[in-house]
Amino acid sequence: MTRIVIIGGGIAGLAAAHRLAPHPRPSPPARPPGVPTELPVRRGEREVVLIESDSRLGGKIVTDRVDGFVIEGGPDTFLSLKPRGLGLCRELGLEDRLHGTNEKIRRTYVMRGNKLYELPEGLTGLIPSRFGPMAKTGLISPPGKLRMGLDYLIPPRSVNGDESLAAFVGRRLGRELYDRLIEPLMGGIYAGDGDQLSLAATFPQLRQTELDHGGLIKGMLASKRKAPAPRPGARQWAAFLTLTTGLAEIVEALAGRLGGVDVRLGRQATRVEPASPGYTVQLENGETLAADAVIFATPAFATADLVADLDPDMAVALRGIPYVSTATVSVAYPLADIPRPLDGYGYIIPRAENRPILACTWTSTKFPHRAPEGFGLIRAFIGRAETVETQHAASPLDGTDDDLLALVRDELRRTMGITAPPVLHRVFRWPKAMPQYTLGHLDRLAAIDKRLAAHPGLFVAGNAYRGIGIPDCITSGEAAANQALTYLDTLAERIPA
Ligand SMILES: Cc1cc2nc3c(=O)[nH]c(=O)nc-3n(C[C@H](O)[C@H](O)[C@H](O)COP(=O)(O)OP(=O)(O)OC[C@H]3O[C@@H](n4cnc5c(N)ncnc54)[C@H](O)[C@@H]3O)c2cc1C
Repeated sequence: MTRIVIIGGGIAGLAAAHRLAPHPRPSPPARPPGVPTELPVRRGEREVVLIESDSRLGGKIVTDRVDGFVIEGGPDTFLSLKPRGLGLCRELGLEDRLHGTNEKIRRTYVMRGNKLYELPEGLTGLIPSRFGPMAKTGLISPPGKLRMGLDYLIPPRSVNGDESLAAFVGRRLGRELYDRLIEPLMGGIYAGDGDQLSLAATFPQLRQTELDHGGLIKGMLASKRKAPAPRPGARQWAAFLTLTTGLAEIVEALAGRLGGVDVRLGRQATRVEPASPGYTVQLENGETLAADAVIFATPAFATADLVADLDPDMAVALRGIPYVSTATVSVAYPLADIPRPLDGYGYIIPRAENRPILACTWTSTKFPHRAPEGFGLIRAFIGRAETVETQHAASPLDGTDDDLLALVRDELRRTMGITAPPVLHRVFRWPKAMPQYTLGHLDRLAAIDKRLAAHPGLFVAGNAYRGIGIPDCITSGEAAANQALTYLDTLAERIPA
């Protein structure tokens, strides 16, 4: 009998636990007195323990359902294009509960100088893919548009090697397009600083397009010619999906499918050390668990603390992944208190506008069932990566929850004319939540992988490594689970029955 310990019960750890669960179906119904409620574990089966320091599962995924409102504290949608978000929802029987964003009003705005401009339609993977909307938009100046067109003529960069996202987009399409359009879109994903983010680790397909086609416009034209027709009869999914009563439905469904997994909430792992055989996982309450394999589904800095004694070099590489703190503040109003129509999904605010807020989502338009009839729900996203210029400035997140609420009310007053107090508000703080794939990220991953290879049975998963979105985290958790199973199979071959 082998034991796998998963540390961290966010979506990555849950996806790993789901893949490894000895009895993945829902736990059996209660049995008559005297019959043990746990199914007996057969010889050769594995024991799976999930350790989570918080009192709930889900990590960054948290949904508050209150007075008819569905309020997401962390993520609010996932990308349908990446297979494992949709795939896992199907496996969990949640397909009928999936919703795309509102089809009737598909508009998003971008702020420029206190004014909201419509985001030009047809952005594919951050890059404009339709000429008409780009030509018409007032967001980009005529010289900025001309500069964009130069992409058609500029040859690909001959030197290989990592480049920042901002440098790449600036080089191909011009800095104005980057500052006014790409930067705020990217900010909504990473809360990052595009001058520090690695293109190779965040949008490698852009450099590939440049290499394959000679430029982004040429690549976009070629992909239009090649686009396959949708399969007749196949369900067409919106680009972004969510669940009827929030993304927590995925967490709840997963939690109900962990038959045979020993889930320990409110237990913090403090150290993982080598043992003979395998490893020991020490918990804050003094308990020690023996493990044949360990999956670290924790933020990179937390994993670094756990392995600091076992492998100081791995800890250094893990600590090299920086994190940004963020917060979301949701506010609800009677529609009569919102002077401006919520005629879109909301607006994004470029860094150049010097506002503490990155984006305001008009949640009740984006997902109409998220607020009761007659109410508007708005969510503001606060917190950005520091730049060289801002690194010594005070962060808006230093303030109290009331300060954050005041900040959001001020933003909504200036931009949307809302002066009434909200009838309901929720503040969610996310300290060190968004890993930054900065220049050199792929080298850091290689260093981490190299150190992991020196410790058979240790695996990592989660948003710190190869994708920050929910589908990527699911993929990473499932991949770590598969690697752990393969490893345990090889162990079983070596140990006589
Ligand atoms: C505000 C916000 C908005 C976002 N929006 C989107 C979105 O719309 N779409 C999208 O796809 N993604 C979005 N993301 C990103 C996505 O939500 C995260 O990348 C993803 O949920 C991270 O999952 P994870 O399992 O890797 O990590 P986490 O969710 O961080 O889980 C790690 C878990 O490990 C636990 N832990 C840490 N240390 C220990 C320890 N020592 N012992 C035991 N347990 C420990 C933590 O308590 C936590 O539960 C957003 C993120 C934030 C913060």
